[in-house]
Amino acid sequence: MKEATTPPTFDSAAILRIAVPSPLYRYFDYLSPIHATTNVKPGVRVRVPFGRTQTIGVLMGTTSESDVPPSKLKHALEILDDEPLLSADLLYLAQWAADYYHHPIGEVLSSVLPPPLRRGRAAEQKGRTTWHLTPEGRSINATDLTRAPRQAMLLAMLQQHPDGLTADQLTDSEGDWRPILKSLVKKGWIQQKTEAPRGGHVDTDHSGETPPVLNDAQQRAVEHIVNASTQFCPILLEGVTGSGKTEVYLKAIEHIIESGRQALVLAPEIGLTPQLVARFRERFAVPIAVTHSGLSDGDRLSAWLTARSGESAILIGTRSAVLTPLKNPGLIIVDEEHDLSFKQQEGFRYSARDLAVLRAKYANIPIVLGSATPSLESLLNVESKRYQHLRLPQRAGRATSPTIHILDIRGQRMRECLSAALIAEIQKHLSAGGQALLFLNRRGYAPTLMCHDCGWVAECRRCDAHMTLHHGERQLRCHHCGAQRPAEKSCPTCSSENLIPVGRGTERLNELLAERFPGVGIVRVDRDTTRRKGAMESMLETVHRGESRILVGTQMLAKGHHFPNITLVGIVDVDYGLFSADFRATERMGQLILQVAGRAGRADHPGEVFLQTHHPEHPLLHLLISQGYGAFAEATLAERYQAQLPPYTHIALLRAEATTAELPPAFLENAKALAIDIGAIGVALMGPVPAPMPKRAGRYRGQLLLLSPQRGSLQRLLSSWTKQLSTLKLARKVRWSIDVDALELF
Ligand code: ADP
Ligand code: ZN
Ligand code: ZN
Repeated sequence: MKEATTPPTFDSAAILRIAVPSPLYRYFDYLSPIHATTNVKPGVRVRVPFGRTQTIGVLMGTTSESDVPPSKLKHALEILDDEPLLSADLLYLAQWAADYYHHPIGEVLSSVLPPPLRRGRAAEQKGRTTWHLTPEGRSINATDLTRAPRQAMLLAMLQQHPDGLTADQLTDSEGDWRPILKSLVKKGWIQQKTEAPRGGHVDTDHSGETPPVLNDAQQRAVEHIVNASTQFCPILLEGVTGSGKTEVYLKAIEHIIESGRQALVLAPEIGLTPQLVARFRERFAVPIAVTHSGLSDGDRLSAWLTARSGESAILIGTRSAVLTPLKNPGLIIVDEEHDLSFKQQEGFRYSARDLAVLRAKYANIPIVLGSATPSLESLLNVESKRYQHLRLPQRAGRATSPTIHILDIRGQRMRECLSAALIAEIQKHLSAGGQALLFLNRRGYAPTLMCHDCGWVAECRRCDAHMTLHHGERQLRCHHCGAQRPAEKSCPTCSSENLIPVGRGTERLNELLAERFPGVGIVRVDRDTTRRKGAMESMLETVHRGESRILVGTQMLAKGHHFPNITLVGIVDVDYGLFSADFRATERMGQLILQVAGRAGRADHPGEVFLQTHHPEHPLLHLLISQGYGAFAEATLAERYQAQLPPYTHIALLRAEATTAELPPAFLENAKALAIDIGAIGVALMGPVPAPMPKRAGRYRGQLLLLSPQRGSLQRLLSSWTKQLSTLKLARKVRWSIDVDALELF
């Protein structure tokens, strides 16, 4: 890979070295635009001719020499920004990430820019557009529009909102409203208004409430962070759920913004868990920007711009927020640092947590990685003294931690997935006025259709996977490729009509509970029921109000929420985590149990947690319950050391898939031979093997695992290997990708 060489000097004779969104591992050289008058600095966007079209790239630097002969160099077309959009630290971070994750620099930079900027839009905020009724529109009686019910609905909605509605608000409630809106505009009933820019999402709900007085452990943690505020200082803040980690973040941030600097807070799934953002907005009277994938392009752009200009003092966001420019960063927080969602699993496969640490290092500021169940990677960094370790040993305030019990379900009479003992516990807690949470591992068994006479099971025609039953068991859907079909009425193998649902999805569990506890309010929270924006919150509201007394859910419930009246947590199946093909499954199971357990209870009603398992003797399960996460993690780390697996070694995965079964292993064999040719010193090449799910969406999948005790050896091999892989003959016939520090081996 070429280096971006010269720093920000530029003269009109210089050659522009530009990162162009393309799958090639290189920069592209251009002459400056013919009419360029100003000097340009790295970090500005440049429109350039590319192949037969044009595209927008980012200037990385200038050079006086190019490998391309001068006569062949083309002129760039236009410089889009007067000032660099991306500051030196972000260019550095992008370059580092491109090198480390072996992803083309142009594509990395393209994911740094919000979509409107990628498309060439000016880096300024557009005013907010809203739709309003005209006087004529106000006078129409919506109920008269019987022949156009959707128009009537939209009209009625606007009549209820005299201040008008934005595109986002309309999308939330109406779905595809644009054609309807158009016809209403034509009739002269509504009009569009554009306000001056208002700084994006900088609202606060500052309530001025006095925050709790910090306990000693919290106080110490805050002091530690604040004292380190002008140097790189990575801190692992470990504290059980409810121990007051968020209070520590809030207090530390208060100090940082008083000194005029900005805080970056990364959290998983804030689109689904608005509580965190709400807490920040209540606490601070400063502008707070929020960014996550559920927002419109316009809102994400304005969050990006206000963070970059320094207008927002705090930026809260999911994974991609780590690549947002900040004018004056003072502190980075990664909440729930163990969470898988910080790793991007496709395209540019980066770890936002790891990039956050690098960013803090470059900016010379502290970074706090917070979790009740830290990743083994971070714990090893503590052990090797790279990270400092701060602990919050107890739940804050008066709350106590729940007790965890193991329910041995071997040979027990079960009502599908519920043991009689767990049903009795639910009854007990409901009678005592409590609420219950039943948790199903999303990766456990989904319910499928089976023939009771011959054992036929409904399978996906394109994947090695069972179809999952949906919609009151009338539809089959594949959770891996999305294929869908009506459920069979008779068995395709033996023609029997005795087809029964087996397995244990949330939908099935919900039905079962409804039969067993008639009249008790039940809500179910999973990907299906929360697709609509706001659906999750309104369901959780029914739990908080006490209307729903049983909550059935998946992973989505494992973080961010707290239900003080839930006194019973039942984890329906923990066995999956104990015996999975993925070496990280046990770690995840331990984290999940504690995260789910942490949702429940308060001081006067401490929670009880029940784990159903066929393996009550499993030593790691016992360790987790009797001695807590620390002992569990230590034992799990020891196993990893024994097996020489991460975090003691470093891995990268080469994945390949194709529509014919022979191609992926053939390509992977060639790739392996290439690595050996290059001289894979100190790197073990394992495989090729079929992926844990060998066929998915009609494509056959295989993988080659690279493993090395030295990060450096692995990186040395990867940097020449990745670039040569595309020259392999089969490389054009398969889809392949490199995943450095792969977290999931699927
Ligand atoms: P975590 O982020 O570790 O889950 P939180 O910061 O959300 O913990 O705290 C859990 C609950 O305890 C919150 O309702 C919070 O307001 C409260 N809390 C936190 N610290 C204190 C404290 N020092 N005194 C009293 N209540 C506290
Ligand atoms: Zn059959
Ligand atoms: Zn499928």
